[in-house]
Amino acid sequence: MKIAAGVDIGGTNTAIGIITEYGEIIFQTSIATTSYLEPEELVIQVAKILKEEISKINSLFTFLGTGIGAPNGNFKGSIEFAPNLKWKGIIPLAQLFEKHTGAPAILNNDANAAAIGEMVFGKARGINDFLFITLGTGLGSGIVANGKVIYGNDGFAGELGHTITFKDGRACNCGRFGCLETYCSATGLRRTYAELIREDFSENTLSSESIFQKAISGDEVAGEAFRITAEILGLALANSVAYTSPKAIFLFGGLANAGEFLLNPVKEHFEKNLLNIYKNKIPVLLSGLKEADAALLGASSPIFNN
Ligand SMILES: [Zn+2]
Repeated sequence: MKIAAGVDIGGTNTAIGIITEYGEIIFQTSIATTSYLEPEELVIQVAKILKEEISKINSLFTFLGTGIGAPNGNFKGSIEFAPNLKWKGIIPLAQLFEKHTGAPAILNNDANAAAIGEMVFGKARGINDFLFITLGTGLGSGIVANGKVIYGNDGFAGELGHTITFKDGRACNCGRFGCLETYCSATGLRRTYAELIREDFSENTLSSESIFQKAISGDEVAGEAFRITAEILGLALANSVAYTSPKAIFLFGGLANAGEFLLNPVKEHFEKNLLNIYKNKIPVLLSGLKEADAALLGASSPIFNN
């Protein structure tokens, strides 16, 4: 049986796993990213853990390599100026992993890794053209066309979250105003809720989970916050269909699970805004990846898809 390592590097923790070709996670652990002042020190530690674990398991397994998911990771193998990692400059991460594990390594940003994970292990198996949207703190996206993730010239294609949706709208972390993710993400929902109750958005503004609970219990303002989020997202997805023509769209992340409050109204506004030739053809579906496993499955999946 073939196995690969999945390494998901976050600002706080780095998750490490060993995954079979069938998407079963047979080992997982995590280490504190912030304990390593230099990226190579972290890579050396991860490689040591992987070597120990792989030597313990049956020698019938073939280790194919390491897939890495990291913020701002690009397909050329480097992390460039990731705002939530302490390491500065351009880090040749895939190369460092190859040096210390002695096996191939492939780096992707989190959203592209999760999109490939959907294709290898999730509901997009056999689907060659689809959009994958993660609704978390921000809005991440991966575009798959002809069975391949679209990276673009510099590797940064698929930044749907940073398409300007409202001119002079909400301030975005990217330094501009009105980006889609400032409306359609867990943070965006919280900002909308704060606006509706005429409060300044702050750390104390209700969590997206609490807003969901309120919506379920019939709170009209919470319901309205979801309705606004869904309306904007449905329109944005309909627009993205015009230049990608996907077979399906997958939504991933805590917010996506708010079924009747998000998925159903998103579908409604999506259909309403689609160009006629696409109407009633493109399902908007929840991701088939379990949230707890998605980061490791996503990170490792390009190794199996290579
Ligand atoms: Zn932005």
